[in-house]
Amino acid sequence: MPIQKLIKRFPPTGTKDSVPVVFHEPHVESGFRAIHQPWYYYLLSLFQRHNECMNAWTHLVGCVIAMGRIYKISYEFDAYNDPWMYPMLAGSITMIIMYFCSFAAHTFHYKSEQLHYTCFFVDYAGIGLYGLGSTIIHYFYCTHPSMVNTYIYKMAVPVAVILSIIVCLFGSHSKTKYSRPYPFTRKIWQLSSVVSIYSWLIIPIVHRMYLYYIRQERPATGTARWDQSLEDHTIQMFWFLTSGFFFGSDIPQRFFPGKCDFLFHSHQIFHVCIMLMNLKQIDGMYTDIHEHLESIKKFEDEPTLLNTFGAVFLSIAINIIVIYVFHNIAKKRIEREAQERKNILD
Ligand SMILES: [Zn+2]
Repeated sequence: MPIQKLIKRFPPTGTKDSVPVVFHEPHVESGFRAIHQPWYYYLLSLFQRHNECMNAWTHLVGCVIAMGRIYKISYEFDAYNDPWMYPMLAGSITMIIMYFCSFAAHTFHYKSEQLHYTCFFVDYAGIGLYGLGSTIIHYFYCTHPSMVNTYIYKMAVPVAVILSIIVCLFGSHSKTKYSRPYPFTRKIWQLSSVVSIYSWLIIPIVHRMYLYYIRQERPATGTARWDQSLEDHTIQMFWFLTSGFFFGSDIPQRFFPGKCDFLFHSHQIFHVCIMLMNLKQIDGMYTDIHEHLESIKKFEDEPTLLNTFGAVFLSIAINIIVIYVFHNIAKKRIEREAQERKNILD
């Protein structure tokens, strides 16, 4: 295979002693790519056996599947000419950005220590943005009529913009504040911000579950089929919780150090859970649009460019500033650590 021939021109993967400490991962012993190689090597490394290979592939595959599903939905509902489809399109853009940022981070972060930091700042921005997109989708399509006049509903998008920036801020801050081996406190910084935006975006679904399962109510606006999509939303929540478990636990590699370097590492399982969560979310969104959009139009205000695409672009713009600031903080840190190493050697 010509790609394999090309890859053989570059240094082979090594043990963790072959790369700077910042690239080390707990319980991973082998499969580390060489740093300071040309950009195209890292793209080719998708076809090389290394310890980030599956992290990149899982979200590349997720991105392609999600794009296919979104394209079909857009085509079915003639989405480009209808303001009621703005939330679906704006939310879908954030899904694709999230997948792409994650794929790019895991593919290219070995380019240099500086790129390692910056790639993951971009990854955190993608996660926050996806939280914002999900908020837009859930509050426009999945809300029970009785929630529309509440303060929470009215503040949904502005609060989600702030929370999406907090995800990037907390993730980037904890990345530059702590050194490897990272303490569990770092995961608390990351998880707390993600759990905050997830708790916000899931409110309309939990509210409907409360009405349907606890109060056994059916809304005045619709038929009994109103709550059919809840099954998809429930499975989506299950995959989110499962992804959190694998993200935070380092299971299974914690029990099999060095044995999950290529396959079955918790971060790969976390990526797969996120993909399954996202696909179920798209299913739920599709069912809600398909079954209820006509009744939704009666009680909700028409979406605008500002509260859909505008919010997404605002979050992207502020996150670019956040990434730039932390890029410089990481740069100073790398220079300081290099100076400290030099002083020790001198
Ligand atoms: Zn990842």
